[in-house]
Amino acid sequence: MPENSRKTFYLTTPIYYVNDTPHIGHAYTTIAADVMCRYKRMKGYDVMFLTGTDEHGQKIQQSAREKGLTPMELADRTVLNFRELWEALDISNDDFIRTTEERHTRTVQAIFRQLMDQGDIYKGKYEGWYCVPCETYVPESGMGDDKTCPDCKRPLQMMEEESYFFRASRYVPRLLEYYEKNLRAVMPRSRYNEIVSFLKSGVRDQSVSRTTLKWGIPVPGDDAHVVYVWFDALINYATACGYLDDREKFGKFWPAVHHLVGKDIIRFHCVVWPIMLLALGVNPPDRLRPRLVDRGGGQDVQVKGQRGKPLRDGGAVRQGRLPVLPAPGGALRPGRRLLRGGPGGQNQLRPCQRPGQPPQQDPPDG
Ligand SMILES: [Zn+2]
Repeated sequence: MPENSRKTFYLTTPIYYVNDTPHIGHAYTTIAADVMCRYKRMKGYDVMFLTGTDEHGQKIQQSAREKGLTPMELADRTVLNFRELWEALDISNDDFIRTTEERHTRTVQAIFRQLMDQGDIYKGKYEGWYCVPCETYVPESGMGDDKTCPDCKRPLQMMEEESYFFRASRYVPRLLEYYEKNLRAVMPRSRYNEIVSFLKSGVRDQSVSRTTLKWGIPVPGDDAHVVYVWFDALINYATACGYLDDREKFGKFWPAVHHLVGKDIIRFHCVVWPIMLLALGVNPPDRLRPRLVDRGGGQDVQVKGQRGKPLRDGGAVRQGRLPVLPAPGGALRPGRRLLRGGPGGQNQLRPCQRPGQPPQQDPPDG
């Protein structure tokens, strides 16, 4: 590895869902990332530190409608909560990406088109039980009592839609090979083991578009569909790194990229995202660090240290009793649920699934 590539360090937080109010969980992850980046800078690394907001999807569309706003107006308002909070906490991020930005729309569409052109995205149909708040299909085997979402406990709706699918199954052997050669690619080791054994059990093709909502990035060449919000959101890490617009920057920082993610979203980050990258001919990230554990829906949250041991004063806390931080600009409240994409966010990973995936016990992303 050439000298200059050893000296770069690219760290991302999850992008936080603008439908949420920032709270201690967002702050925890972002401060942890900030500390890591400041340390690397002190050690002489050329650091890129990215955070941002995830602004598409059904929940934003619904929430905006309830408030009598357009989704963009809602996002423009709520993104300020995050921007102001990071300023108040003196977070040293180099970039702040919003998934509604033009640079991101172009990147997502270019990637979608490339994968379509090379036969890795195809059109199909899916019918299944869907949780609107979690934006996730739930297999019958994973449903709660009375057809409820196993994560948020709300009633599921039967939905059918045409969808584009990403041929994720094709790349599983290559990702397994990558993980077998890179034992520290997912940390801690317990999560690495979980991901590897999940991959070995097989991964189904992923639905990557929706016709049931409008608030998203249009699929290139097919305006009836918008790109599924997870597929859209994961690409932010590449957008901000210049995947489309600045190949020099991209070449400099990729794959020296480290993603801090919550346990809930590790399959998106450690299965779907690396497979997307492999399909694009790009190396997967150097490190994926699922750091936080959230048992979801008002149950215990455990904040764990690097070796998986509860931190001394961060241990198990009730979500409802998280300490209230001072509220710069009135922005902070202890939230009921954290983000999509952050520690403890949308618990849509384990029991849910994307369209087109026949029920399976433990699908990659849902
Ligand atoms: Zn749900």
